[in-house]
Amino acid sequence: MSHKHRLLVCTHNPGKIREIRSLLSDLPLEVLTAEDVPDLPEPVEDAKTFVENARIKARSAFEHTGMWTLADDSGLVVPALGGDPGVDSAYYAGHHPDRVERERANRHKLSQTIQSIPNEQRDAYFVCTLVFLWDGGEQVFEGRCEGQIITEERGQHGFGFDPLFLIPSLGKTLAELEPEEKNSRSHRANALKAFRAWLPAWLETSASS
Ligand code: IMP
Repeated sequence: MSHKHRLLVCTHNPGKIREIRSLLSDLPLEVLTAEDVPDLPEPVEDAKTFVENARIKARSAFEHTGMWTLADDSGLVVPALGGDPGVDSAYYAGHHPDRVERERANRHKLSQTIQSIPNEQRDAYFVCTLVFLWDGGEQVFEGRCEGQIITEERGQHGFGFDPLFLIPSLGKTLAELEPEEKNSRSHRANALKAFRAWLPAWLETSASS
C-alpha cells in the first residue's frame, strides 16, 4: 500500500506521543493525537479492568472521528495486595487535584501498605493494555514490566510509582534509570512493541480488502 492511513492515538501525554511516533515511524501511517482533535471527548474511565478502560477511550474516540484508534490504560499491580493499586493507580490515595501531590500521596500510601507484606512477597508489575479499534473490529495488546516494591523512595526520574519500583536484575528503581532506558523496557514499550509487530501484516490485509 502506498497512501498513508490515519491513526489516532488517544493521549495528550507528550512522552507517550514521542514514543509511539518513533516506534511507528517506518510504517505508512499518519499518527494523530488527542492534541490534533480539540473537541475529542474525555470519557470517564470507570471500568474494573485495564482493557475495559482502554476500550471506553478507544470507542469514544472512534465514534467521534471514525479514524483507526489506539488507546491505552496502565497501572501498577501488586498481587500480594489483591492486585492493588490496579485500575485505580492514578487515584490510589484519593482525588487530589494536583498531579504531583496526588502521586506523592499514592507513593506514601503504597510504601506504608507494603510494610505489612513479607519481603519475599513484594513482587509487582506495571501493565499497559492497548486497544486498537477500526471499522471492522478491535485487537488488544498487553505489555508488562516486572519488579518489586520497596519502602524507601529511590531516584529522581520518571513519575508515579517509579521511585518505589525496583528492577532486581539491575539493582535500580525505575526512577534511577535514564528516561531512554526506562522507555525501552517499560510496560508501555512492551505493549507498543507487540502492536508494532502485529501491524504490518494487518495493514497488508486491510489494504487488500
Ligand atoms: P496512565 O494509564 O498512563 O494514566 O497511568 C495510570 C496510573 O498508573 C498513573 O497515574 C501512575 O500512578 C501509574 N503508572 C502507569 N505507568 C506508570 C509508570 O511508568 N511509572 C509509574 N507509575 C505509572
